[in-house]
Amino acid sequence: MHPRSVLVTGASRGIGLELIRQLAAIKDGPVHVFAACRNPDTAEDLQAIIKDHPQVHPIRLDVEDDASISSAVETVQSILRTTDDGLNLLINNAGISEKQGTGFSVLGAERAVFQRHLDVNSIGPAMVTQAFLPLLKKASSMSNSAKMGAHKAAIVNISSGLGSIGNNTTGTQMVNNAFYRMSKSALNQLTKTLAVDLKNDGILAVAFCPGWVQTDMGGPQAHLKVNDSVSALITTIEKLTDEHSGGYFQHTGETIPY
Ligand code: NDP
Repeated sequence: MHPRSVLVTGASRGIGLELIRQLAAIKDGPVHVFAACRNPDTAEDLQAIIKDHPQVHPIRLDVEDDASISSAVETVQSILRTTDDGLNLLINNAGISEKQGTGFSVLGAERAVFQRHLDVNSIGPAMVTQAFLPLLKKASSMSNSAKMGAHKAAIVNISSGLGSIGNNTTGTQMVNNAFYRMSKSALNQLTKTLAVDLKNDGILAVAFCPGWVQTDMGGPQAHLKVNDSVSALITTIEKLTDEHSGGYFQHTGETIPY
């Protein structure tokens, strides 16, 4: 069963854009697909999808800007009101991983770089989730499904395997920095906390690593094509249920240790 409404942040390019493309292409799929990004008017690839898919709505949203988050909620609310829906699925995908040259380690990083990564990759998703929570709760309370899932109400945080503390054997050697790892570990903690807090509301929360993906962030040498990562991700998301809430998974569904 597909969700009736989905919102994806960071929908201008990369994994977020591909999520919008594949969600919009599902036959009898979501009634509303909200493509949230900083500059929807200049996101040409997104505009091309919107042209052929009237169920895709461009939404202006910068995860670092509280006013933009509030105004995105108002816009989404006004569109959902037309079909008396809540929001079934929130995908916190927007993220950054700044390249600071070679040899850039935890010891050489400026405070502002740590702060920026925490702000976009972990605090941003917390603020976005807070703001959309009433719409997720509405979707959950309107659902007649006894089981949790993306068809009812779910928060999916796009984390990274690099956020795993349990799997960290390469320190800064793998990404040349600690701030990205730290920001994704914090996102994982947010995920688990949401899963515990929202269980009684019937809202599921999970974190995913999309794999190493060929995007602007992942680079051309990455193992996975963006369409393959995203199609596996969508298949796995649609199978999520109560037992998965609070989990941290690979795009293909295998558990990653926190
Ligand atoms: P890209 O760099 O290709 O795209 C990043 C997206 O995030 C863009 O849409 C960008 O928007 C958006 N974004 C950045 N800052 C903000 C902000 N302040 N507010 C709103 N949107 C913002 O990255 P990917 O598609 O590869 O990454 C998507 C997610 O997957 C990220 O969370 C990333 O950490 C995670 N990930 C990616 C991996 C990979 O190999 N690619 C591996 C593991 C995790 P704009 O166009 O406006 O800049």
